Amino acid sequence: MDKKSLRLYLPGPVTTDPRVRDAMTRDWGVWDEEFRSMTAQVRAQLLGLACGEGSHGCVLVQGSGSFGVEAMVQTFLPRDGRLLIPVNGKYGERIATICEKLGRGHSLLTVPEGTAVDPGAIDAALAEDRDISHVVVVHCETSSGTLNPLDDIARVTADRGRKLLIDAVSTFGAFDLNPDKLGYDALATSPNKCLEGVPGCAIVFAPQDSLRAALGNAQSHSLDLADQWQQFEATGQWRFTPPTFVVAALAEALRLHEAEGGNPARLARYQANHAALAEAMEGQGFVPLMDRALQAPVVISYRDPADPNFKFTRFYTRLRDRGFMIYPGHLTDIPTFRVACIGALQPQDMRDVAAAIGEVCHEMGVTNFAP
Ligand SMILES: *Cc1c(COP(=O)(O)O)cnc(C)c1O
Repeated sequence: MDKKSLRLYLPGPVTTDPRVRDAMTRDWGVWDEEFRSMTAQVRAQLLGLACGEGSHGCVLVQGSGSFGVEAMVQTFLPRDGRLLIPVNGKYGERIATICEKLGRGHSLLTVPEGTAVDPGAIDAALAEDRDISHVVVVHCETSSGTLNPLDDIARVTADRGRKLLIDAVSTFGAFDLNPDKLGYDALATSPNKCLEGVPGCAIVFAPQDSLRAALGNAQSHSLDLADQWQQFEATGQWRFTPPTFVVAALAEALRLHEAEGGNPARLARYQANHAALAEAMEGQGFVPLMDRALQAPVVISYRDPADPNFKFTRFYTRLRDRGFMIYPGHLTDIPTFRVACIGALQPQDMRDVAAAIGEVCHEMGVTNFAP
């Protein structure tokens, strides 16, 4: 198999368009005006996508999506603040770990994996604990594919006079995350999910007032978004060596995003991918972890077949050798595997992976796909 035709059914990094990869075939001098203006253009385009022109700032920071989330937490949560973290999967847990290591006050609201966070429970927690200053929401808990009810959580948080941080790493670029509606204090995402760029930086949006007020909160210099934002505004420069290729790929990915028709067109394609995958998998007897209504059209978790001939590692390797890369599940209790619907993939790609999954299972001697 030609490795260039490998298709990634992963919730990041995703399959990229060849034009995005081609954007990385030259070098860039980082101090040079050309790179500075590319950074400025990417930040402006991202801000447009976030509907934050004039009111918000866009900060890019080196690292993966988690660096952006960690930077967001320490930049926007004051040192004496307290963060309510609803946890229904790995990414919620990661935010709890971030707060532990930073020594920031936090409270957990744990719900079972594959279950959405209940806005009523957030409301109750905020009523009970007056010390909670901020709530963080993982919009799509990518470890299971659960879509959390962001609009309702934003409303109860605002009604209780608290501030909202959003981990929209796996949803920005497809979902409507209008700041007028959500009123967030900061939102973090990354280029290598729904934006279909490549990994290497994180993207954080925040109201300009919040960025100004946040100076001095972060205890890490390299992850201080308020400081990096000031530098971008003053000189257009990254403080430290920027991921030049990642920015060039993101510029092309944003061009393709716009040409496709922006967020609504991208979401429609992912929904079509999700429907095609569900139909082809469930038609063969595979059982999803969750009800369709709870799933984001980002990734579907399937229960491993109970058949003793099903061995995930063999299954994974055989699929990979055919050019399809999937992911193990990330759940603690229930064995699952995940197939993502995001990236430069079309519904036919989803039917192709479902067919290959069925064939590989038959090759392994798995005849019943029920969990
Ligand atoms: C991908 C992802 C992240 C970031 O993960 P990295 O491995 O650091 O890129 C954070 N939150 C969610 C919900 C994600 O899907």
